[in-house]
Amino acid sequence: MTHDSPYSMDLLINHITNLVTVRALGSRFKRGKEMTDIGLIRDGAVGIDNERIVFVGTSSDVDESRAKYVINGKGKTVTPGFVDSHTHLVFAGTREHEFSLRNAGASYAEIHRSGGGINNTVRATRSASKEELLRLSLHRLDTCLSFGTTTVEIKSGYGLTFEHEVKMLEVIQELRERHVLDVVSTCLGAHTIPFDYKDRRQDYIAMLLDQLIPYVAEHRLAEFVDVFCEEGAFSIDEGRSILQRAVDKGLGVKVHADQLTSLGGSRLAAEFGAVSADHLDHLSDEDIVAMKRSGTVAVVLPGVSLFLGLPMADARRLIEQGLPVAVATDANPGSCMSENIQLMMTVAGTMMHLTVEEIFTAVTLNAAAALRRSEILGSIEVGKQADLLIFDVPSYEMIPYHMGVNHLSCVIKRGRKVLDTMQEKFND
Ligand SMILES: [Zn+2]
Repeated sequence: MTHDSPYSMDLLINHITNLVTVRALGSRFKRGKEMTDIGLIRDGAVGIDNERIVFVGTSSDVDESRAKYVINGKGKTVTPGFVDSHTHLVFAGTREHEFSLRNAGASYAEIHRSGGGINNTVRATRSASKEELLRLSLHRLDTCLSFGTTTVEIKSGYGLTFEHEVKMLEVIQELRERHVLDVVSTCLGAHTIPFDYKDRRQDYIAMLLDQLIPYVAEHRLAEFVDVFCEEGAFSIDEGRSILQRAVDKGLGVKVHADQLTSLGGSRLAAEFGAVSADHLDHLSDEDIVAMKRSGTVAVVLPGVSLFLGLPMADARRLIEQGLPVAVATDANPGSCMSENIQLMMTVAGTMMHLTVEEIFTAVTLNAAAALRRSEILGSIEVGKQADLLIFDVPSYEMIPYHMGVNHLSCVIKRGRKVLDTMQEKFND
């Protein structure tokens, strides 16, 4: 940048009818009643320079001549880029035949027991080359972006051998470099005990503890380690040893907790100060108190309950008892085949009884906190990374309300337009 440039902003979005800032004012997340404060500004303006937000306020407070490029935000809603803090997007093979079986009455557990379910995905993912996984995953990230996700977490967990878990994590690393989205990597070697370790449970856990987790830490293949604590997956004691090894190696931790039964995964997450505990369909009051104390974000996944036809987690209760709640897709081929975060927003409203304001907080700031990213992402505030969405609707409430219809017209990622379906409208 030259000193005689008249500009101090690369881009200004001005006259925004609804600017949803979700301003955090320095806090890591919003909990309880705070979740309803989305920092709405009417006739708002956002200035961006380089990759950062440099101005947030009303149109009357900003000088358009200081911006190199101006977008007219009249009739539009601008929000922070959505953060999807829980996905399993790297996999090969889809399971549409199981969808039909389940709809006809077979349970998820029955399908799993008959050799289907996750084992099908594991087989297909092991057989796929890195190039094939990369191609499939890049396409899925494009779909995420088309619905407004600008940061996504991706877990391994369909390789389930040392070699194939590393392969998945290397694919996730490559996605970070190849795709415009911010990608956060999580090692979920502890997804389930794979079929070929059925009678060698201890051997599999030893592989995780002594080989995979140290290798992942040494080669920086993941930022977090996640454990599926559930009957039929990993016990609390097994989970504890896996999380302990992760923490010893300097990795952050997350837990798939209390989805099908109240096993105590959320309390285990709290014990380790995990960034998030996810699912949370069966929580006791003591679990909630423990999570509150540890500052663990409660991630609920309404798409799973929708897809499997199961009751929803009681997110209302989590908010009322003062937890920070985030909403994510859990995009995966078995229990939620969707990258569409906007769909989850609608279901979080209709089936989990979140208000529209709580929903926006849950997919922005709180979701960023579930990935240790809320210092730079998740709200529209000066100094934060310029990840913004422009919707072609004059009110933010339209977005989850007009369900199944995508009103997103522009995505700005790190200050750059990366998706723009209505270009001509921005040139006036
Ligand atoms: Zn999951």
